[in-house]
Amino acid sequence: MQKGELVANGKAKSIYKTDDPKKLIMHFRNDTSAFDGEKIEQLDRKGMVNNKFNAFIMQRLEEGGVPTHYESTLSDDEAIVKNLDMLPIECVVRNISTGSLCKRLGVAEGLDLDPPLFEFFLKNDALHDPMINDFHIISFKWGTQKEIETMKELTFKVNGILKKLFLDAGILLVDYKLEFGRYDGKLVLGDEFSPDGCRLWDVKTREKLDKDRFRQGLGGVVEAYEAVAQRLGIAI
Ligand code: 5GP
Repeated sequence: MQKGELVANGKAKSIYKTDDPKKLIMHFRNDTSAFDGEKIEQLDRKGMVNNKFNAFIMQRLEEGGVPTHYESTLSDDEAIVKNLDMLPIECVVRNISTGSLCKRLGVAEGLDLDPPLFEFFLKNDALHDPMINDFHIISFKWGTQKEIETMKELTFKVNGILKKLFLDAGILLVDYKLEFGRYDGKLVLGDEFSPDGCRLWDVKTREKLDKDRFRQGLGGVVEAYEAVAQRLGIAI
């Protein structure tokens, strides 16, 4: 597959055209960012680890009935994906309270959320990804009512699949963010699923094994990602 021009350069990934207009190449870079791009560092091996992590998770999700954009792995840090028309929306599910939820509502950290919470955010760094609800999505035509329902249904379906997958490896899936796009008239999971966009805690020690290690300057970021990958049986 021929790698074409750069079409998008995100904070941690770059997207390239291919000779097939329905396919793109997603390059996972070593760049690691937090606080809407205010803190950026290069972390050795992260692009490769996240590419392999994401490929593994996307395949488990497809098997579980969640349509994803993942097609195949092209190289250590590149994947071939479907060319989606992305919605400017982030879908977050929370199983345990932490992060922005605690800051926003003043609730305690580490509470089991039963049922899990679902939140929509607008993907906009300049505005710090503000929280939105169904009405904003409809009024501003960022998505349809049917797409809202599908995003909720698929994001919870992902929770069912991944909570068990991680728990079997001794890891709690605390929360995560997903992004969806349109492809051939249906909504498909895009972007990535890696420790950059979710929170993972060791079930016994509650040690953080995700990007909070970077956000909070705890060190051992990629080492933690690799440890999770190893526990899931992902060959790095
Ligand atoms: P919070 O709203 O607590 O900051 O984040 C909730 C979950 O969504 C966390 O797992 C966090 O990693 C993920 N998340 C929310 N916004 C973003 C984002 O803009 N980029 C990434 N990589 N993850 C995000």
